[in-house]
Formats: sequence, structure tokens, C-alpha cells
Amino acid sequence: MTAREGVSGVPPAGLRGWLAGRGDPTWRARQVLDALWRAGAGGAGSAAGVSTLPTELRASLDASYAWDTIVDSELRIGDDGATEKALHRLSDGTAVESVLMHYPASPSGRERHTLCVSSQAGCAVGCPFCATGELGFGRDLETAEILDQVRHALRRLAIGGRRLTNVVFMGMGEPLLNLDRVLAAAEALTDPGRAGLGARHVTVSTSGVVPAMRRLTELGPRYTLAVSLHAARDPLRDVLVPLNRRWPVAEVVAAARHHARVTGRRVSYEVTLIGGVNDTDRDADAIAALLHGDLAHVNLIPMNPVAHTPWQPSPPPIVARFAARLRASGLPTSVRRNRGVEVGAACGQLAVERAGRVPPSVVSRRRARLEAASAAALRGERAVDPAPLVEPV
Ligand code: SAH
Ligand code: SF4
Repeated sequence: MTAREGVSGVPPAGLRGWLAGRGDPTWRARQVLDALWRAGAGGAGSAAGVSTLPTELRASLDASYAWDTIVDSELRIGDDGATEKALHRLSDGTAVESVLMHYPASPSGRERHTLCVSSQAGCAVGCPFCATGELGFGRDLETAEILDQVRHALRRLAIGGRRLTNVVFMGMGEPLLNLDRVLAAAEALTDPGRAGLGARHVTVSTSGVVPAMRRLTELGPRYTLAVSLHAARDPLRDVLVPLNRRWPVAEVVAAARHHARVTGRRVSYEVTLIGGVNDTDRDADAIAALLHGDLAHVNLIPMNPVAHTPWQPSPPPIVARFAARLRASGLPTSVRRNRGVEVGAACGQLAVERAGRVPPSVVSRRRARLEAASAAALRGERAVDPAPLVEPV
């Protein structure tokens, strides 16, 4: 079966071309886009249910395109309603996750509703603290499969009369390894005739795919760039982000620094803090030295506990101490509260649960390898074994 292309991923010009080919006036493209993106309007599972369109056009749309690439979604609500995690099933049975987080208004800003979207099913990078890395690579998501996660959230927000304010590509997958589709999705997100978000309110996070970071820079000041740093020292980052063996810390930070210089935009560095692994004073000082004088901001995130690793989140006093050391060095630093622990909101956690249990023998082998690898890294040794740390299950 070849799945129909999702209509939300078709750019407006493509839609106009399709309508013209049918002999329809191209202004109908506006009607189709409104039906897809206007709050509350895109709720129908097929074009057949969209009463603003002529009946014949609805049938034709359904014959050519999928009105929604998400077949069904399971919701889990956590943090007293502040976190909503959705596990979406796509037409080929692939499962991906999105997380909607509500932040109340505060003295420093208005209320925010942030959606974390997936760009791939699984991920090839294989960071050992990440549930998605655990799954291995499944496939790239189509542009429409990314955008339909957003339409799903818009519909839920519309019920409460709320508006989506931010989208972060921090769900499953490495967005810079699916860059063309991620950029097409980001364009739809920031198009006033579609999702209409401000470009700064779209954040693309990467584990450090340097050539793709350069492509983002070539776009000029547009989306916010987040870099998953986790460690400033290569031996440790080799373990935490296996892609570091391909593009080491110095290259990743040089690309991010160049991005900040060319675009005038501050780069966000994410540091997931793992107890006793990357949360020492020495690690804080190495990050401070690495980013000294840069247009940068550091986000500290205590690790969400994930099965199959021997690691635990850094305790709150250690996180506070780490943050204080970075701030003392002049680096703007925030601590991100761990959202949705009880709904499994570390990206990929629900999908891993669905994929079935990892055999205990694989878990214990993996734990032993990680313990040995992180101990070697703490002694300052680089891994001699370049094999991925996460074995296929
Ligand atoms: N692949 C991209 C984007 C998706 S991951 C990247 O790595 O940047 C988004 C963020 O979630 C990354 O900063 C990642 O390091 C972090 N993350 C993954 N697993 C986590 C966990 N168990 N606890 C806390 N943060 C985690
Ligand atoms: Fe992939 Fe990001 Fe998870 Fe690493 S942290 S395995 S790059 S999704």
C-alpha cells in the first residue's frame, strides 16, 4: 500500500497547482488552508467532514491526499494538567510522540503553550540516556506527519480557547538528519496563513550535525537553535552523544558560535544532568570556559529517569550548584523543571514501552558497558571502541 501524501505538508503553491489542474479556481487553496489550520476547523478526520468546501472537492481531496496522517492518538495527562503527552499512530503503524506543556503567565511573561514535536520515528544517534535512542532508527517523518502533530495540539488548545505559542523540535529524532522536511514544516509553522507562529518561537534542537547547522545559518536569522551539549570534554561527550566521535565538541561549538554571530541570535545549549557522570564542578567549569564570551544561554535539565541505564538524575542541590557556577562565570543559565515524569515525558519513553520489554541480559550488558565507558571518560580517556553503545535489541 502506498500511503496518500498528507495534505498539510503540501505548500500553498502546490495546492494551487493541484486545484488549477482540476479546473478549480486557485482561491480555493485559501479555503483548504483555513480548513486545515483555523482553530477548531481542522478537526475532521477526512475532508468529507469539512462543510466549508464543496462536496465534490472534498471527495477529490480525500482521493488524492490524507487529510490527517495521524490515525489515532492516546493522551496521558500529567503535572495536574500542565503536561499532555500524546502517542500518535501513523498510517503504517509507526508510533511517535508529542508533548504539550502549559506555562502560566508570570511577572516575566504571558502564558505559554509549547508543543514538543517528533521529527523522526526513533533516532540513529543513540544517546544512552535517551529513550528514543534506545529504539534505534525507524524512519524519517514526512512534513505532514510533523505538522499533523501540531494540528492535533491546536485542536485540543482551541477547546479551551488557548493559542499555541511555541514549537520545539525536541521530541523523537534528530531534526537535522531530516532537515528538508523539518524546514518545510517550520515554514508552515511560521506562515501567517497556516500556523502563524513567530520564527523565534520555533526552536530546532540538534545533537550536533555540523553540516546541517551550517545550512540553518545560511537561512539567516530565523529559527532558534538549541544544541544538546551535555559535556564540554570530548571523552565524556563521546559517551553521552555518540555523534561526538564524528563532530567533536570544538566543531559543534564553532558552528553554533558562527550561527550566533551571523544571525545575532543567542544559541541555547542543553545540558541533561546525570548524577555523578557530568554534574561535577570540573564539568561546570569546562562548559563555562568553552562558552565564555559567547552569545549563549545554558538550559540545565535533570535527567528524566529512563529504564535500561544505570544512571539517575542529579539531585537538586547539585543542579543548583552547577547552575550557580555557570552564572558566576557570566553565562546566563536556567534550570528546566522536569516536566511530565509521571507520564513518561522524556521523549520516546511511551514508544519504548509499546515496543516491548528489553531482555534483562541486554539491559545488564548495556549497563556494564555504560558504567565502564563513563568511568573511563571521567578519567579523561577517550573510548577506544567506536561501536554504538546502544546495541540493537
Ligand atoms: N535529537 C535532538 C532533539 C531531540 S532530543 C537533540 O538531541 O537535540 C531533545 C532534548 O531532550 C535533547 O537535549 C536531549 O538531550 C534531551 N533528552 C533526551 N533524553 C532525556 C532524558 N532522559 N532526560 C532529560 N533530557 C533528555
Ligand atoms: Fe537522538 Fe536526541 Fe535522543 Fe540523542 S537525545 S538519541 S540525538 S533524540
